[in-house]
Amino acid sequence: MHHPQDQVHHHSLNDPESFWGEQASHLHWHKEPSAVLARSTKELLSGDSHDHWSWFPAGEISTCYNCIDRHVLAGRGDAPAIFYDSPTTNTKQRLTYRELLTEVEIFAAVLRQEGVKKGDVVLVYMPMIPATLIGILAINRLGAIHAVVFGGFAAVALAQRIEASRPVAILTASCGIDGSKPPIGYRAFIEEATSLSSWKPPRTIIYQREQLSWHPVRKTDGERGWQNLVKSARARGIRAECVPVKSTDGIYIIYTSGTTGLPKGVLREAGGHAVGLHLSISYLFGIHGPGDVMGCFSDIGWVVSHSYTLYGPLLTGAATVLYEGKPVGTPDASAFWRLVDEYKINTMFTAPTALRAIRKDDPDNHLIAEVGERGGLRSLKALFLAGERSEPAIITMYQDLLKRYGAKDAHVIDNWWSSESGSPISGIALVPHAGKDRQTDVKDHPPLAIKPGSAGKAMPGFDVRAVDDDGNEVPRGKMGNIVLALPLAPTAFRTLWEDEERFYKGYLKRFGGKWVDTGDAGLIDESGYIHIMARSDDIINVAAHRLSTGTLEQAITSHPLVTEACVVGIPDSLKGQLPFAFVSTSGDAVPDAQLLAEIQKLVRSQVGAIATLGGLIQGRGMIPKTRSGKTLRRVLRELLENAVHGEFDKPVNVPSTVEDAGVVDVAREKVREYFREKGGLHAAIEAKAKL
Ligand code: AMP
Repeated sequence: MHHPQDQVHHHSLNDPESFWGEQASHLHWHKEPSAVLARSTKELLSGDSHDHWSWFPAGEISTCYNCIDRHVLAGRGDAPAIFYDSPTTNTKQRLTYRELLTEVEIFAAVLRQEGVKKGDVVLVYMPMIPATLIGILAINRLGAIHAVVFGGFAAVALAQRIEASRPVAILTASCGIDGSKPPIGYRAFIEEATSLSSWKPPRTIIYQREQLSWHPVRKTDGERGWQNLVKSARARGIRAECVPVKSTDGIYIIYTSGTTGLPKGVLREAGGHAVGLHLSISYLFGIHGPGDVMGCFSDIGWVVSHSYTLYGPLLTGAATVLYEGKPVGTPDASAFWRLVDEYKINTMFTAPTALRAIRKDDPDNHLIAEVGERGGLRSLKALFLAGERSEPAIITMYQDLLKRYGAKDAHVIDNWWSSESGSPISGIALVPHAGKDRQTDVKDHPPLAIKPGSAGKAMPGFDVRAVDDDGNEVPRGKMGNIVLALPLAPTAFRTLWEDEERFYKGYLKRFGGKWVDTGDAGLIDESGYIHIMARSDDIINVAAHRLSTGTLEQAITSHPLVTEACVVGIPDSLKGQLPFAFVSTSGDAVPDAQLLAEIQKLVRSQVGAIATLGGLIQGRGMIPKTRSGKTLRRVLRELLENAVHGEFDKPVNVPSTVEDAGVVDVAREKVREYFREKGGLHAAIEAKAKL
């Protein structure tokens, strides 16, 4: 309990009033809150009830004002706000806070003129360009609610979100550009989505990109040209002031990436969001204000980018890098390192899947070395990873590389969170203090030690526990369901958009309203480090032993040639389930039998004989992912389950969020080949048991 991060966490849970009251004082309030935290009981129409809470009740705040106006008013208007870097269009652009203010004031006036009012929903379906951030901030400026939908989603996913959020307007662009592929016109997606949806948004405002135009703009259908509207508003000199909203009013809806079922609309509330994000960007990520640069390489359609490409850095007055490109292929695997060098990024954020892609394309680290050797990575204090579990091998590899090339004491930090939490639930804070003096003392109090494989310790306001299926806490070091006690930290949700019942049923009911179910499974070790090992649904049950996919994948990826592994359960008449691995290796393929034997050894020694694999398929491009980089284990599990019954062609449930449906076809063929060659799983196991 001596490390400052433990003390900060303890303070946040034991005296939330003083802790969060101080955090709130860093922001501008149009009306001061009457309290920090109010607790109550929520009665539902179904007759159920649950504990409820609100952060900063009766306060009024404008997030846009806190992100832009106040920095300009304080004389920091010339500081850079956005560095836009787009290798896909060969464009770079720099916007200062003053320039950003002008653009947002004008575009907010445009939206107001087009009928957007406080409390309305505006859906944003845009690529990673400055207009997108301007559009989102303008929506916020009017006190309206944005619902950003990832620009890579096709019509069905988009239609579901239009139907659910009933936007008064859609902001879109003529096209998106995915890496080095040709531009993808958005018109067809928008038209199909609005025809599928029973809700017809009255306005569609289109940002014309020169790579592909949206032509003609049909005014009679409510379509408007973004640039034309802005030009006219600028000529008329109209601008919009900030409209503050209540702390507990929604500022955005974000639909969870949803590997199953209909997407859930997580509602983010104004007061808690601003206060909690301001804390996390400075305390956890070490970004404090002008002079600091954040590089969060995710898409604005995901919560990570909402929080740390857009709102977090701007709340402090720091600069953010808006990157329209890929980790690899635009033009190569040096892209992130070039960005760090060019913009002197201090804190970088990405998903482990991006690092795996980089490692695949640059297996000998020539590209990172090239930038590193000229001192190009010295500004980098930390590389944060989230979105899915980071296996220890990827953490230690990049820790070594940063030690060689980054700033002295640079860190690679796994942090665990979700759309629901709005900011990391766990991580390793870069800064020792959460108070006003947080910029001092860093040298005297280095961050907590990194434990590769753990996502760090709980962040302020999050009370994290591991419990059994009855909701009783399990001993330290034991696997359980990872849950959160109420109230949740200020950035986290308190409900789903217009669906209080689903909030209760989806998150609270399982544990009788006592805990919020995160859907993740893992353990909390003796020293309080949290290890997230799998989604609860991905736990494999072998002869009544609960094995996590994360533990098994960790053992498999400790093999030097393995670049990626995905483990799922396959039905077994004797043991219920057996773990089965899909494995990619670097370089030339190793003979299957040899690889399996080597991997079995690792699994047996690191996890135990109970975890002995029931089979292994080696190959590339066969592990399906969501567009946000999460492994779709369920799809591989279904393919295997069908194969066990000889149903190789049976359709599997592939969610609309899949990155590349072709990968599922590759996996299907691989599974078919495996079963044909081995004459069924059990024959395969027997053959391998003799090895
Ligand atoms: P999303 O709401 O789409 O951001 O997805 C949240 C889910 O991603 C979590 O519930 C976890 O299952 C997974 N996740 C995110 N970050 C991590 C992490 N650092 N380690 C393990 N799983 C993670």
